[in-house]
Amino acid sequence: MRITPRKEEVAAVVALLEDDTFDSATHLAKAVIKEVGEILQMRDWIALVHTWSDGTRGLNFAPFASEAEAKTFASKMAFGGTGRLVKLNSPGAMLANTDGKKGWKGYCFHPECGHAPFTHSIASAARGACHIPTCPCTKFQSA
Ligand SMILES: [Zn+2]
Ligand SMILES: [Zn+2]
Repeated sequence: MRITPRKEEVAAVVALLEDDTFDSATHLAKAVIKEVGEILQMRDWIALVHTWSDGTRGLNFAPFASEAEAKTFASKMAFGGTGRLVKLNSPGAMLANTDGKKGWKGYCFHPECGHAPFTHSIASAARGACHIPTCPCTKFQSA
C-alpha cells in the first residue's frame, strides 16, 4: 500500500496527536490506528485477481494503492497464469453518504450536512438541497 497522505488525512491524525486528553501512549496509539483504518476505508483500492494457466482460480492479492503498484508486484512474483486488475470501491465513502462525513474533501461543507454531492438535488425546485431526509442542508457547499 504505497500511499501519498492527503491533506484531510494528515489533519485527522494531527488532531489526535495534539489531543492531550489521552492518558497513555498506548491509548493514543490505539486511537491513531483506528483513525487510520477509517481513513484508508475512505479510499478506493486495486486488487490483482489471478488465474492459473490451467484456468483454475489462482491467488488474489489486495489492496494496492494504484494499478502501477499492482503491476510492479505481479512482475516480481513470476508464478505464471494470468492476472487482471479489479477496482475495489470504498465502503467508507458509501457509508459516509448515509452518515455524513463533515469537513471531508469532496463532501458537502454545510455544518449539518457532510453528505456526498450526488445526494444533493439537481431538480429545479429544490436545486442544491440535500436529499437525506434528516438533513437541513439547502445548498451544497464545496468548501
Ligand atoms: Zn446532507
Ligand atoms: Zn449539503
